[in-house]
Order: sequence, then C-alpha cells, then structure tokens
Amino acid sequence: MANKTTEFLISHNIEESIKHRSPERKHARMLYKELHPARILLFKCMDGRVHIAKFTNIPTGILRPYRTLGGIFDLGDSYLSDLIEKTIKHCSSKKPCLIVSTYHFSKGSEKRCCAGHDNNTGQALVWAKRLRDQFKSVFLEKRNEGILYSIVMGIETDNQSLIFHNKNGEIFNVFENLNSSREEIILKMLKIFPDVSDEVMNALMELVMGNYNYIKNSTSEEVALDREHKELSLCIGLGFDWLHIPNKALIVSPFRSHLKTLDDCIAIAASIILKNIKSGRVDEKDGVTIMCAGLLFKEHTNDEAQKMRAHFLYKTAKKVIEKRVPELLNYNLEYVVGVTSHDTRLFTEFDPTEFEKTFEQGTIVYPEELTFISKISEN
Ligand SMILES: [Zn+2]
Repeated sequence: MANKTTEFLISHNIEESIKHRSPERKHARMLYKELHPARILLFKCMDGRVHIAKFTNIPTGILRPYRTLGGIFDLGDSYLSDLIEKTIKHCSSKKPCLIVSTYHFSKGSEKRCCAGHDNNTGQALVWAKRLRDQFKSVFLEKRNEGILYSIVMGIETDNQSLIFHNKNGEIFNVFENLNSSREEIILKMLKIFPDVSDEVMNALMELVMGNYNYIKNSTSEEVALDREHKELSLCIGLGFDWLHIPNKALIVSPFRSHLKTLDDCIAIAASIILKNIKSGRVDEKDGVTIMCAGLLFKEHTNDEAQKMRAHFLYKTAKKVIEKRVPELLNYNLEYVVGVTSHDTRLFTEFDPTEFEKTFEQGTIVYPEELTFISKISEN
C-alpha cells in the first residue's frame, strides 16, 4: 500500500488532470490567451515555496515553468536549448515570448534564502542575470527581435512579493508599491522597461498586478504558513505542471550545468526533506515520495523515450539517495515512476523493474561473443 504522500500526489494528479481537461478550464485558458497573447516561460528554483501561479493568481496551465536547484540553468545544455527552440518556434510579434529568469530570497532570515546557492542571494541574482544574458545572446538576436524578451525577476518569499530588474539594475518591487494606483505602476514599469512591445508589457503587468492583488488579499497568517520548507516529496524530471499546491514538493529538472550536477541537485533536495522531518515541520508518518517523470509531447517525442527518461532518473535518484542521504531511507521512502502527458497532465505510472526486463536480452552474452571478446583481450 502506498504511503500517504504518494496517495496524495496520485489523487491530486487525477483531480488536476480532470480539471485541466474540463470545458470551464479550457475556456478560461482560451480567454486568457486572447487577452494576454504573450507566452511566459519561467525559470525558477526547485523550492516548493516558490509558487508564482499562486502569487499572481494567473490561471493554471498558462505559465510554463522550468524548475531546478537554485534556478541554475545553462543554455549550453543541449537538451534545454532544444526544448526552448521547440517551445518558441510558434512565437511571433503578435504572440511574443517573455522569458523570466528568477532568483528567490527571504527578507527576514538568511537561513530561509536559496539552498541551491548556500543562502547567498547575491550569487542567486548573478546566476539569474547570467541566464537572462544567455537567452539574449542565443535567442534574441535579430531574427527574434520583438518576438522574445528576457528579464530577471526576484521572489521574496516572506511577503511572497515579486521584484522586477531591468538590465541597468533598476528595480520595481511590488511590495513597496502597494499604495500606488495601476496607472502609476504602469508608468513606473514603462520607465524600467521602455523597449518592450505592448504585448510583452501586458504580460509583465499581469505578473505585477496579479501579485499586487494577491498580497493585498492575503492574510499575514496565510503567508507566514509557507515561510519555512515543508516538502515531503521530490519530483525529478519534466511533467509536474499539475502540482498546484505550494510547499508540497521540490522539483528538479533533468538539465545540466557546470555549477551543480543532477546528482548534487537530488542530494541537496533529499537533505532538505530530511531536515523538514527532523525539525518536526512535517509528519514523518506520511512517508517520503520520490516521483520520477518523463513528459510526453505528442508532436515531438514518444512514450518509450519518455519511459526511458523516467527510468534513468529513477536509477540516478536511487543511487544518489542511497549513497549521499541514506538516512532518508528510514522514513517510508517510495519511488513512483511514470510519464505525464502534456495534453492531459495525467501521470501514468509504470513499474521500473518490469521496464528493466525489456532489456534482459542484452544481458546475455552468447558463446560466439565470448570467443570474440577473449580474442580482443588477447590482443
Ligand atoms: Zn532556491
């Protein structure tokens, strides 16, 4: 029988998939896209407290999130740059793409800042700016002028406030402008981002005003609840864009950077979960869940390829946790491995041990091959 954390994740996925496919949600997304045609790609930390759809009240399924430890992405990773190419090829000047490279921090305590950067907010900001500049140099050359726009955005998790940075270091902090009117805010944003198209400013203002209304309507008790880490699950891979509850899971993408390897990301995330249990912020009886997923886009991949990705992530996670955070195994740890459909957001589980058997034929070495190998060794 599955532990409580796994049970929750599976039933939450089914509920969200049903909602995602419902005519009401489809209609809401269509209406939103008509009014706000710019596509928003968010590059952010795996941290479960950083939940921008919630902090802006933007309907689910609109923002396209990419998550990993510390928001440490590098466009030198061919898998990431290939995915971005595929994502932005449908953008145009009427339907531009806003790329938001983010960092996060806590105003009240250095300890609550980003674990991916050892709580060093300066380093987190520098990395976010580095990613913005990589986007500028790779994708924003002449061919994409007016189609793509890349900015840096901070998230202050104590007040759940957004902070927008332009390339000259000028800042607009939503929390410090709660007494300004919408008209005053537009003027300030236009001053900071004078070169954006109307469509991109429209998208930026959705983030700003969504966050402005969210902060004004949240009680301080609600906000305080999510100041500390409370995750009991770790989601590895792509295909978790159905998890709409903050502080439930840490999410690590399978992308590479020279700063942290995938193994490092998994180990740091696993140790955050262990700390959450030991500090008593979560109920250890619920159990720990490691979910590994591939993401199925019908138009450019297939089910077997995504199963293989999920299986690879499962093997990697298992090895890293057993070696680097073995204490976590004492807390009813379970692996759930599967493939998420991008269209329906439904996660379909498979048995990784059975999947492994698909390749059993390859483990047999035939006599002719043995002779061949021994001859190579002799030489
Ligand atoms: Zn972080």
